[in-house]
Amino acid sequence: MLTIDLDDLLRHAEKQSVPGILAAARAAGVLWQCRKESCRHDNPRGRELCSECGHDQKGAPLHDIRPGLYRGPEEDWLDLRQVVTGHFADQEPRPDAVTFLWAGSDDEACWSESAVTVHYGGHIKESPASLDDPAVCEALQVLTDFEAPMYMGKMRVALPARPSAVTSGV
Ligand SMILES: [Zn+2]
Repeated sequence: MLTIDLDDLLRHAEKQSVPGILAAARAAGVLWQCRKESCRHDNPRGRELCSECGHDQKGAPLHDIRPGLYRGPEEDWLDLRQVVTGHFADQEPRPDAVTFLWAGSDDEACWSESAVTVHYGGHIKESPASLDDPAVCEALQVLTDFEAPMYMGKMRVALPARPSAVTSGV
């Protein structure tokens, strides 16, 4: 089977053939184009979020992902959002969302706070960072029984956009 590197192809293509190549790549599912009107960035297959604006493949901004078959109490979920938001209270810019990875094993299955992905709009911190925060750890612990993924799942908490919405009630 013939394998072509798309970057190579585009680099050597004449300028007027680039749109056609991109259209073919999208049609073949090699690329997906961001649906956000002001973005329209082409992203490689397999990338969950647009690398330019951070929206997902359906064009939606970052939102909560709750993987469990059984959802935990809403107040526990709100509590997690509050402590994670509080953790970044002094940080500028403030992240849009934090994704927790499942650290499952036979001995212990929990949401990891030592390997999280922190999202800053389109600039996703790909490398796992550590939150290392007892309040976050406790909130995760409470949710672990309910919000557990089936396989390789993740849990995402979207953080409120405006700082004023964050400080109220904390
Ligand atoms: Zn985009």
